[in-house]
Amino acid sequence: MSTTKTYNVRGMHCASCAGIIEKTFKKTDGVQSAEVNPGTETVKVVFDESKTNPHHLSQKIEKLGYTLVFPTAEEMKMSAEEHAGHLGLNQSKKEKLAEVADMRSKVITVIPLAVFSVFVMGWGILADYNVLPKMSDTLYEFLHHLLPLMATYVLFVVGKPYLLGLYRFLRYGEANMDTLIGLGTVAAFLYSFIVSAFEDVLKSLVDVHQTYYDVTIIVIAFIALGKYLEARSKIKTGDAIEKLLNLQTKTALVIREGKEVEVSIGEVVHGDLIVVKPGAKIPVDGVITEGSSFVDESMVTGEPMPVQKKTGDRVVAGTINTSGAFVFKATNVGSETLLAQIIKMVEEAQGSKAPIQALADKISSIFVPTVLIIAFLALGIWLLFGTSTLGFSQAISLGLVAFVSILVIACPCALGLATPTAIIVGVGKGAKEGILIKDAATLEKLHNVDTVIVDKTGTITIGKPTLVYVQNLSNLKDDELVSILASLEKKSEHPIAHAVATYAEEKNITTVDVENFEGIQGKGLKGSINGIEYYVGNAKLINDLSVAFDTSKIEEFTAQGKTPVILATKEKVLGFVMVADEIKAESKQAVADLHKLGIKVVMLTGDDERAAKYMASLVGIDEVIAHVLPQDKLAKIKELQAQGNIVAMAGDGVNDAPALAQADVGIAMGTGTDVAIESAGITLLGGDISKLVKAIKLSKMTMRGIKQNLFWAFIYNIVGIPLAAGVFYPFFGWLLNPVFAGFAMAFSSVSVVSNSLRIKAKKL
Ligand code: ADP
Ligand code: MG
Repeated sequence: MSTTKTYNVRGMHCASCAGIIEKTFKKTDGVQSAEVNPGTETVKVVFDESKTNPHHLSQKIEKLGYTLVFPTAEEMKMSAEEHAGHLGLNQSKKEKLAEVADMRSKVITVIPLAVFSVFVMGWGILADYNVLPKMSDTLYEFLHHLLPLMATYVLFVVGKPYLLGLYRFLRYGEANMDTLIGLGTVAAFLYSFIVSAFEDVLKSLVDVHQTYYDVTIIVIAFIALGKYLEARSKIKTGDAIEKLLNLQTKTALVIREGKEVEVSIGEVVHGDLIVVKPGAKIPVDGVITEGSSFVDESMVTGEPMPVQKKTGDRVVAGTINTSGAFVFKATNVGSETLLAQIIKMVEEAQGSKAPIQALADKISSIFVPTVLIIAFLALGIWLLFGTSTLGFSQAISLGLVAFVSILVIACPCALGLATPTAIIVGVGKGAKEGILIKDAATLEKLHNVDTVIVDKTGTITIGKPTLVYVQNLSNLKDDELVSILASLEKKSEHPIAHAVATYAEEKNITTVDVENFEGIQGKGLKGSINGIEYYVGNAKLINDLSVAFDTSKIEEFTAQGKTPVILATKEKVLGFVMVADEIKAESKQAVADLHKLGIKVVMLTGDDERAAKYMASLVGIDEVIAHVLPQDKLAKIKELQAQGNIVAMAGDGVNDAPALAQADVGIAMGTGTDVAIESAGITLLGGDISKLVKAIKLSKMTMRGIKQNLFWAFIYNIVGIPLAAGVFYPFFGWLLNPVFAGFAMAFSSVSVVSNSLRIKAKKL
């Protein structure tokens, strides 16, 4: 039996760490796959429980400096299954904050040392150009002894992770970006140390006054500062999940043995009666049994107005009771609540990999070894060719500078952060707007969509039609006709059926028993009353029956967008009613906005063609395909795809599931709190079509962010490495100072994370 588990990983620094962990796990017996996300610092492993276990897996990577984080047993007890995972996430956030605080204190001690080194270095350079007087011998001697001490502290205390990276490389042959920095700074330090220690012996060979302690100090200081800023921003990218987690209450007021008792949320079980006071948050999902109130559901549905709730209405966890008090019966607890599902979906989406990341991953995995080779090659070439033209002393000096600079500037850190940070921010921003995205791949696909297919009922229209007209064509009394119709429709779930049943109820028209009821897909239904078989449905159904019917009778109504419901026996038509649905206020604007994005909007409906065309014309839809049977919706989407279109389909998620699955991006319109989250790539809470526009804009925004990030991350390396290697030195005398390499490296990671965070602030 194989299981899939996701764990937080402690000790991860970069994309190359991700590669190392993935590789180690995949080599482990019993592991089928492992996927690391450097953005969320998690690993998703599929493994055979009979062959290995999480603790064994953790041990495998511990010697390389990483550990898996398990939620503690105490947390597990607080609530069921997945919930523990969420708490585990909180736990790791606390750890993250502690880690960031630790980084901060290191940065505070190292920055003054770096500033001092820059000052000393600057004086040296300026003195060479006669801008400042030469340092006095005493001062020089003093600094000569002070700098090594400072460098020792910086390298061995602040630079410890990089030393470990170097150690792991030498011991296990696994190199990550810490290895690069470790090797670079240790090389600078060791060289300086050797020349200072053996001054007399080496005097004839090299310039013993040229040391690189300042390089060690400044590079580590910059990188520590960069890592600190990066870690601080990275915490911010996960804000959305934290906000969702905060919607969850810790306790609930439950009626036990007639008394109100406050119990921890994990102890609430199905069927518990829960008291909600004004101003309180609703702890789990359920149905009101007593009392009424207005509930603010904006955090879950995105709809700002509080919704009236009375006995029999559904309430969901995380929403806020604004006015009255009520009692409700728990129906969904723990991981079953809508909120828990939303949190799970957002977490999973944030942890998933976008296809665009594959390239960056591939590059990072070969990057570190390649850079190591380039650095050693550069050093070798400097020594080989430099010595003959510049002399050994100059050659080793410049070669060392090149060696250190290459190792420092080439860290693929920014490359690893480029995609996941943008995805985390994008998915989180969506969640805040009521746009639930299933995975990164969906978010990526959405930005290319050029055709949007919408369902009429419930997507463009409100989906709650009302009966507006009755036409009796038989000898029956009007009420008898409606009674037969309503009796049949009561058995159906279609919105049209509700319209008819509601009308009968309001008119106090009684209904009778129906036998042999059967739905006729895309057309209507049939059933028997007192031995007579009746048919109810659209013109297509009547056509199939081959009974005489003058369709001109209904045309004046369908031309105004009304839908006919015709009642017939096998012999003749008995009459018809017309139902009318209202267009949603936001539909027209949404279609116009989609057009602005260059997207074609097609309406696909099982409804009457004339009625559908009329509704479409009101909102500006380009193309209408009417009288479509559910199975034909699928074929129609395939046809559009075959023409090279990238198709998104927005539907109700329940009836349209196969079509949603066929579309490149399936978008489920959740109405109110009634959502089928699993069924689609994207769920728009509150069923608001204008959110579709926002979702597409969000996708475009996120993809733009990712591409910018990748571009900048690559540019640093493409320009930086040859410059650092000294390729331009023979022509222009250009050689990158390792100090600038450190700055560029730190700046590139910080700029990538900041660029991703910008998505958060942008307007949709
Ligand atoms: P849609 O979701 O686009 O309405 P359906 O396949 O659900 O597509 O229905 C197609 C058409 O079949 C409806 O527009 C209506 O004319 C007819 N129909 C379906 N169910 C019923 C019903 N219960 N009563 C009357 N007509 C129905
Ligand atoms: Mg339908």
